[in-house]
Amino acid sequence: MTSALTERARALDAEHAATDLRGRFRLPAEVVYLDGNSLGALPVGVAEAVSDVVQRQWGSRLVASWNESDWWGAPTRVGDRVGALVGADEGQVVCTDSTTVNLYKCVVAAARMRPGRRVVLTDPGSFPTDLYVTEAAARDHGLTVERVAPPQAPARIAELGDDLVLAAYSSVDYRTGELWDLPAVTSAAHAVGALVCWDLCHSAGVLDVALDAHGVDLAVGCGYKYLNGGPGAPAFLYVARRHQEAFDQPLAGWNGHARPFAMAPDYAPAPGVARGRVGTPPMLSMLALEAALRTYDAVTVADLRARSVSLTGFFLECLDALLPEVEVATPREPGRRGSQVSLRHPAAYEVVQALIARGVVGDFREPDIVRLGFAPMYLTHADVLRAAEQLRAVLDGREHERPEHAARPTVT
Ligand SMILES: *Cc1c(COP(=O)(O)O)cnc(C)c1O
Repeated sequence: MTSALTERARALDAEHAATDLRGRFRLPAEVVYLDGNSLGALPVGVAEAVSDVVQRQWGSRLVASWNESDWWGAPTRVGDRVGALVGADEGQVVCTDSTTVNLYKCVVAAARMRPGRRVVLTDPGSFPTDLYVTEAAARDHGLTVERVAPPQAPARIAELGDDLVLAAYSSVDYRTGELWDLPAVTSAAHAVGALVCWDLCHSAGVLDVALDAHGVDLAVGCGYKYLNGGPGAPAFLYVARRHQEAFDQPLAGWNGHARPFAMAPDYAPAPGVARGRVGTPPMLSMLALEAALRTYDAVTVADLRARSVSLTGFFLECLDALLPEVEVATPREPGRRGSQVSLRHPAAYEVVQALIARGVVGDFREPDIVRLGFAPMYLTHADVLRAAEQLRAVLDGREHERPEHAARPTVT
């Protein structure tokens, strides 16, 4: 059985050789890293780029670097690079703040763009910060939040009609990896005159979300997951060009001012997406993200999506062959999954720890999810098979029952 799968992994790796970018990452050789959807791996060149920022730009050139190295322009410059990966024409994406903060801006700005409407729709299964900050923004602005799962959203949107302000959804479910129907929710919202905001944390860099083509209004996402920007990398914010003039976001700060160095006593928003900026950006992280994004110069998102679908599809094949008893939480149809495969197991946390002890790094999500992310740039089909074989070994040896795998640190 395994030798047939080994052959198949070899054939698939040969077929997808053009998109194997493993050599562009600094990853420990013995690790199969299936957590790139939590913290992307370190691309070659980032450490050198950051060293130049620290030693030369900061150390030697000091404050002159704001102009000389165009630190000031980095949020929109890096934003355009991210925009190209999510189907946004230039001038519509800015890298700034965190996903949480950007979502707050979007909910409030949407409320101001659709005055008189009262309801924000979101997914009860959203990543918790999305729920918290959507509720907080709604409370601050007299809106109510209704939680409706994405498959039921279009029907509920039609019922709400002109009561709906905004449908705020994630394009991929962070737990199960299910890919939701972005075009259907977007067009349902537009049919009643409402706006959409998509959270792209688990799709940016691995699938073409085609924001402009689908007429999306607003979007947010992380820089440190598949975009590999490093821990705490700035997030991004997309505001469709047609909405920029009306995008009145609540965090008026001097970086988003029309004339920041006029030091005027009153706020006037910058033209364009730069009004999404707030305060001084963390420049080391911003420029680490910019350097990391150069890895994307070698490949198209469409090609990465093809590789990703092949990797996750092959993992499902390996599960069928080697682990038929394991429950898969991710849809089997390639068009309905992102770049991850999640499993359910009553001892999911301990299974993840036992896998990590065998060099296969995934993560656990409450309540019973073994979450395995397949960052297509640096994983091969051989890695995928190895992950399945190691999981088989963990379960056969009941390694997850060992007491050392039950201890939980702060970050799980
Ligand atoms: C990872 C993730 C976040 C994280 O938000 P931060 O503000 O960067 O902490 C938010 N939403 C979703 C859907 C995520 O997957």
